[in-house]
Amino acid sequence: MNQSKKLFEQASRSIAGGVNSPVRAFRAVGGNPVFFSHAKGPYLYDADGKEYIDYIGSWGPMIAGHANPKVINAVHEAIKNGLSFGAPTAIETEMAERVKSFFPTMQKLRFCSSGTEATMSAIRLARGFTNRDTIVKFEGCYHGHSDSLLVKAGSGALTFGIPSSPGVPVDLAKHTLNLPFNDLDAAEALFKDKGESLACLIIEPITGNMNMILPKPGYLEGLRKLCDQHGSVMIFDEVMTGFRVAKGGATELTGVKPDLICLGKIIGGGMPVGAFGGRDDIMDMLAPNGPVYQAGTLSGNPVAMAAGLATLDVIAMPGFYESLSEITASFSKGMVTAAEKAGVAMQGVCRGGMFGLFFAHQPVNTFAAVTGCDEEIFKRFFHQMLDRGIYLAPSMYEAGFVSSAHTKDDIERTIDAAQLSFASL
Ligand SMILES: *Cc1c(COP(=O)(O)O)cnc(C)c1O
Repeated sequence: MNQSKKLFEQASRSIAGGVNSPVRAFRAVGGNPVFFSHAKGPYLYDADGKEYIDYIGSWGPMIAGHANPKVINAVHEAIKNGLSFGAPTAIETEMAERVKSFFPTMQKLRFCSSGTEATMSAIRLARGFTNRDTIVKFEGCYHGHSDSLLVKAGSGALTFGIPSSPGVPVDLAKHTLNLPFNDLDAAEALFKDKGESLACLIIEPITGNMNMILPKPGYLEGLRKLCDQHGSVMIFDEVMTGFRVAKGGATELTGVKPDLICLGKIIGGGMPVGAFGGRDDIMDMLAPNGPVYQAGTLSGNPVAMAAGLATLDVIAMPGFYESLSEITASFSKGMVTAAEKAGVAMQGVCRGGMFGLFFAHQPVNTFAAVTGCDEEIFKRFFHQMLDRGIYLAPSMYEAGFVSSAHTKDDIERTIDAAQLSFASL
């Protein structure tokens, strides 16, 4: 028995489901999760010492590669001064200024400790600002696990949301409405009907939690117009796409200006950090300036800030996104070409260091199209790649990530492994 299997059996006796976050359990693909002991650059090493080329990057944060020396040094320096003060430190302001330089629409922001906290706080703020209760989200988008956001579509297009998890009160879920992503007509109909009661719209401007889907031309612009017309706050959840698809995230790529932006993952460089921010007049509603309450014992933690700031230093280097985009594009193109050669239908999309691969005959632009992809082939492909030392996300609903530490040679080795895997599907 390999170490991972042993460790998982042991973990399952003390940790619910054997994991501390469900997607790690490999339920969507079958088999046991791999337990890791360390990582360096683009490589992960499991408990048996086997090396993998990593395309998950801790679900996004490791854009500068694992154990990047600049980040590790910054953390070493920071811990010497103490781990937490529960009082302000200068590095929080330095970090806020740096984030603002990448996301100029954020006039003010606040740090928290996870993406979930960022989105939860942003919708509370939007509700407080507008004095409205109803929020709109999009089918297939994920915004963390807070109650209001664990809600799926009801039966009809304009019906109230229903809880997508036991434990979320029906009375709360009914305040969350769901729209299909990339369907502007549906959004227009909803705003026409209910616009005056909508506190906010929250969206992944480029999705990553139903695999990677780009907004159709004019789609986000259309949503922006609807929010303006009806006085609803527009929130971009860039927890995944921020610093990832471009330095200034999807906001920079699309040119559409949201009122609030949520950040997470890369912003902590592997440490627990989230942030939300945007328009001055909205952010001034937060306590202590305003009446909307939000807080955190470890928010803006100095060690986490040091890791985040060092990561942002790395990605601010000239040419960083040009070379990251290039290597990601060569990966995407190589994978699709390898599939084609083996007679396997595959679609690929990428921006910056983020990619989506789909077992589909047509480009994938909607949640329905993602669910229509061939899951059986995906599962077989996933395990073949894993055996060959390529660590892809264990679900066809996840986007993938390339880091600046991935080399041409890593990409070539990955495509060689894909060729063998496609051939034996
Ligand atoms: C990961 C993610 C979240 C949740 O962040 P956590 O740090 O896991 O709480 C929220 N929104 C998006 C778009 C994400 O990808």
